[in-house]
Amino acid sequence: MTPEEFRILGHHLIDWIADYRSDIEKHPVLAQVEPGEVRKSFPSTPPAGQVSHDEIIRMLDERIMPGMTHVQHPMNFGWFPSNSALASVLGDIAGSGLAALGISWESCPSLTEVEELVCDWMRQLAGLSPEWRGCIHDTASTACLTSLIVARERATGLIQNRGGIQSEPRPLVVYTTEQSHSSVRKAALLAGFGHENIRNIETDPDTFAMLPQALAEAILQDLDSGRTPAAIVATSGTTGVAAFDPLDDIADIARRHNIWLHADAAMGGSALILPECRPLMRGIERTDAISWNPHKWLGANMDCSLMYVRDTQMLQSVMSTNPSYLKSASDSQTTQLRDWSIPLGRRFRALKLLFLLQIDGIESVRDLMRQDIDNARWLAGQVGDSADWKVLAPVRLQTVCIRHEPEGLHGEALDRHTLAWARSVNASGKALVTPAILNGRWMVRVSIGAIPTTREHVETLWRLIRDTASGILK
Ligand SMILES: *Cc1c(COP(=O)(O)O)cnc(C)c1O
Repeated sequence: MTPEEFRILGHHLIDWIADYRSDIEKHPVLAQVEPGEVRKSFPSTPPAGQVSHDEIIRMLDERIMPGMTHVQHPMNFGWFPSNSALASVLGDIAGSGLAALGISWESCPSLTEVEELVCDWMRQLAGLSPEWRGCIHDTASTACLTSLIVARERATGLIQNRGGIQSEPRPLVVYTTEQSHSSVRKAALLAGFGHENIRNIETDPDTFAMLPQALAEAILQDLDSGRTPAAIVATSGTTGVAAFDPLDDIADIARRHNIWLHADAAMGGSALILPECRPLMRGIERTDAISWNPHKWLGANMDCSLMYVRDTQMLQSVMSTNPSYLKSASDSQTTQLRDWSIPLGRRFRALKLLFLLQIDGIESVRDLMRQDIDNARWLAGQVGDSADWKVLAPVRLQTVCIRHEPEGLHGEALDRHTLAWARSVNASGKALVTPAILNGRWMVRVSIGAIPTTREHVETLWRLIRDTASGILK
């Protein structure tokens, strides 16, 4: 493809994307395809020649579109917001077009310096002190893995430079809760801590937040039995119910025992840009690392996960390797982001945030988030006021966990009813919600926050849910 051909198809594609976004409500939210259907719509062998540009657009319409679950749809209340603001899409396209090789400052000074800049802008918008320095990872999963590797090395005085974790006589322990994201457990396993050394600390039965007293006791027990408490992963905005672990109390305990404290604020971090939400994360300043996904609620195009640390020396002493071909004369004056994270090369992800902050502006992002929080409170009010309906956890942000509990339905029968109405709502294509297990029973999460979602959409959802659930009982 020549640049001239790129110009023509590129314009066409931008129009296609703009049409898609403006007409998104025409599509069912959940993809209506059967497993294997998308793949079967393509030839099983690679194309021998070239296909026309028209053919490419037709492929998007006819083969790709049916297999899309439209998370940008205003009736998407599934999982968590996975917002992709169009301003950020343009930043992503600019980044792809520039196609930098982000392996060192020298390989693209703009990439490194703009990444440092937007991380610092985001830090300021979040009300965090200048002690924090950040970089952009692909996902919170990677950020948590990076953080737990640093925790492991910190607890062992850089054992990677000696016999590695295999030579550590005292087992290293990680503390989290059952409510934390599955990626936390995965990171702990990948970082070599081992299943037996991951503690699920008890949570408050009403708020689902970590109980600091239970944490303190578990740490003392492990110390007594000759183990080394190495890391605590606290969550700000848990995946199930958006609970907030009490960071201030947890930080007291972490400091007392010199344990690395990672705040997984993948979802909740965005709420830091709203000063009224910051009390939920009081104490965040006293943690050692924070991960936060602007690719969720904030609207940066996937993938864009911020990770902040205060001790950048420690991070670099674990993550840095310095082969000769990467050394340059400017090394002492520049940041080498490869020493802050796992991959060597990186994409120019910072442009997604730069475009979002410059084109849409932070006030419009704040307005949208406040509207989501209002809508969540409205829905929780409606559910709470309805006979046979329950709100199952405090509504801290934009997630509302609900259950229809008609008289006489208990245990597994209640589970079957919950799954039946949730699946029926999803299969209708009119809206998407997420069933999940809480305290051993199915419930339904309504995660409000797609960019085009308004109060009317939430009202429509509530009518649909009520009608579906009562219709199923008949
Ligand atoms: C979404 C989420 C994650 C995982 O995010 P990825 O960026 O997809 O890895 C981790 N923790 C919490 C609390 C989340 O909400």
